Amino acid sequence: MLTKEEMKEFERELLARKEQILENLKEVNEKISMMRNQEPKDEGDFAVLAAQTDIDNRILQQQKSELSEIEIALTKIKKGTYGVCEMCEEPIGIERLKVKNFARFCIACRAINEKEHS
Ligand SMILES: [Zn+2]
Repeated sequence: MLTKEEMKEFERELLARKEQILENLKEVNEKISMMRNQEPKDEGDFAVLAAQTDIDNRILQQQKSELSEIEIALTKIKKGTYGVCEMCEEPIGIERLKVKNFARFCIACRAINEKEHS
């Protein structure tokens, strides 16, 4: 299990990441609304604009899903269940959490999960 200090450290990192994502989301949103107000001059312009908006939307989706993972992790820290696998209830392991601090499953369950979903 994680010590209180380790838990605090992960909480600090998660909160910092959350701030960063919120900042990114704000930027992307501003960019998207700016582009919506922009009149494409020709076909080429329009294609570039559409492609860019597509990329921004994808980033937006990605960041939003990471944000919800982080929220879940933060709730778990409050409840004291952070770092425990949701499937087998074994500790996820600090090494894995260091790589992915919002991991919900241990490596073994993650592998099973991925197989089921692919
Ligand atoms: Zn597990």
